[in-house]
Amino acid sequence: MAGILSNKKIGIIGGGITGVVTAIFLARAGNKVTIFDKNKLLSETSSSTTKLLHGGIRYLENLQIKEVRNGLNDRHWWLKNFPNNTSAIEIFIPFKNIFSIRFIKYFIGIKLYEFLSFKKKLGSGKIIFGSRNVMKNQEMNFLNFLSFIDGFMDDELLSEKLRDELSQLDVEIYENYEVNDFNLSGAVNNFNFDNVILASGPWNKILLDKNNLKTDKDIDLIKGSHLVIDRKINRAYMFEAICKKRYIFALPYKNNTLLGTTEKRTDSPDTPIIDEDEKDYLIQSYNSFFSKQISSENILYNYSGVRPLIKSNKKNFHNSSRDFYIDQNEKLICVFGGKWTTAPSIAKKIVTIINNG
Ligand SMILES: Cc1cc2nc3c(=O)[nH]c(=O)nc-3n(C[C@H](O)[C@H](O)[C@H](O)COP(=O)(O)OP(=O)(O)OC[C@H]3O[C@@H](n4cnc5c(N)ncnc54)[C@H](O)[C@@H]3O)c2cc1C
Repeated sequence: MAGILSNKKIGIIGGGITGVVTAIFLARAGNKVTIFDKNKLLSETSSSTTKLLHGGIRYLENLQIKEVRNGLNDRHWWLKNFPNNTSAIEIFIPFKNIFSIRFIKYFIGIKLYEFLSFKKKLGSGKIIFGSRNVMKNQEMNFLNFLSFIDGFMDDELLSEKLRDELSQLDVEIYENYEVNDFNLSGAVNNFNFDNVILASGPWNKILLDKNNLKTDKDIDLIKGSHLVIDRKINRAYMFEAICKKRYIFALPYKNNTLLGTTEKRTDSPDTPIIDEDEKDYLIQSYNSFFSKQISSENILYNYSGVRPLIKSNKKNFHNSSRDFYIDQNEKLICVFGGKWTTAPSIAKKIVTIINNG
């Protein structure tokens, strides 16, 4: 990465994807970086995703154009830098009726999504009308589809690669090390830094409150759960959940199906566990689209994480932005929100702040 070299001592609280990618960018820029995590690196929210590298096609519904554009740029960064652990994935959206507003809306949305990718487009989506020949091996009760192309990652391998990069860059790592005290003057427990970055995702607000530090952003803790189902599917799908307000992904995953996600407000980011109603919601949503039905007996395992969404005054948090916000107060820089995909954008902004500081 080109840019001005700085030589500062930086402490990062939280080794999720935000902390890890920020550490890599800061170390590449010449800084001496230390990461603290109360657990293992990349073991919390960052290990519970749908594994998509994306701009978020559904955010176009809320006209979050800038956010989608940033996500698409970052998607390109991941696919370019980690070609062995990422790939393009074609995702099919089923439609009962092609003569519908919904179909037209989606068609326009996909074209806009492709346009916003500019030269970083991964390919063009398809329109498939009523032909069982095109969609060989019919798995769904539908004949019409629109498709679009996004990024997919092997997050386990990618996490190993990122960890290797941290050690090559001599980033100091403290795992199973809980930070309790930090302040605006660069102190983290008994350490002192030129700058401290708070990247503890869904724990950010709790840690700030504990240390009597104020910010102008708050966090909405939204739990999301996935099921891994013992069904092999040939294609990736995005379809309406039974609530009709959200979309569910069913993705081919290690000869099984990755099904997710739910969105449920929660009080605490600690040890999220799937509820029975979330399992039912995912199973019923799957059964309303796929021809071969499933029950809870088909669940191989499940996992849950808590999204650190920036709190908005929108009534429906499903429409909340996945954008990020960086707040600086003296030596402390706090990151709110973001996605796995947008960690490089967050990291670049922090490097700029530190270089100019
Ligand atoms: C269900 C679900 C699906 C998702 N799917 C996608 C997707 O497909 N694509 C995408 O781009 N994004 C996705 N996301 C969003 C993405 O997972 C998150 O935005 C991202 O992982 C947040 O990373 P983070 O580093 O901010 O937080 P985390 O990964 O939670 O990292 C924070 C770290 O801080 C540490 N910590 C907390 N308190 C302390 C303390 N006191 N001392 C030291 N360390 C501490 C924690 O142990 C943790 O490791 C999804 C999120 C969820 C929940």
